[in-house]
Amino acid sequence: MKDSIKTIAFDGDDTLWMNEPYFQEAEKQFCELLENYLPQHSVSQELFNTEMKNLSLYGYGVKGFMLCMMETASRVSNRTASLELIDKIIANRQELLQKPIELLQGVPRTLEQLKGRFRLILATKGDLLDQERKLQRSGLEDYFDHIEIMSDKKVSDYQKLLKNLDCRPENFLMLGNSIKSDILPVLELGGYGGHIPYHVTWTYEQHEHNLKHVNFVELKSIDGILNYL
Ligand SMILES: [Mg+2]
Repeated sequence: MKDSIKTIAFDGDDTLWMNEPYFQEAEKQFCELLENYLPQHSVSQELFNTEMKNLSLYGYGVKGFMLCMMETASRVSNRTASLELIDKIIANRQELLQKPIELLQGVPRTLEQLKGRFRLILATKGDLLDQERKLQRSGLEDYFDHIEIMSDKKVSDYQKLLKNLDCRPENFLMLGNSIKSDILPVLELGGYGGHIPYHVTWTYEQHEHNLKHVNFVELKSIDGILNYL
């Protein structure tokens, strides 16, 4: 029964604040920089291939993304890319680290209503420093009882998180925009999952199937959770 929920964890990127559009914008600029070598959509595919190849080495986040861009630039240009071009890639990506935080609709209001009634956790993937900076700029820090910046969101990572929180799966609800990372592993452990779709999703996180599960709820926006609980 969902009455057992005591701890609610929130994903950060594209759940509390906007993220993927910034990455897509950065990728678009990158593809434009390399269009003398390959059509833009092919550069984009090459970049994705590099990201997938390196995911287990670099993990998620902006820094890994930058390294993948440089590797892709070198390969796509057949090692002829100039240092000037590499400089441009670095400058554009550093911009990505400085983007303003844009909270998604209903976020502060929802957290406000849940605070005190539940233990609230931020559980996000990405680069440690970048995510800490985003949280600080978001102004949401005080709502959370615990912050967990995770290197991945697989079943074993959630198992570790629950152990650290001293929380049983049936007392745990995870909310996020990625079915693959935020929902499925938590359901597998016996926890609850609430999906809040965002209008753009990174190819890697896309999940096509309709999910039906007794512990799963599909929400239109974050404040929908207030009616579910
Ligand atoms: Mg997310």
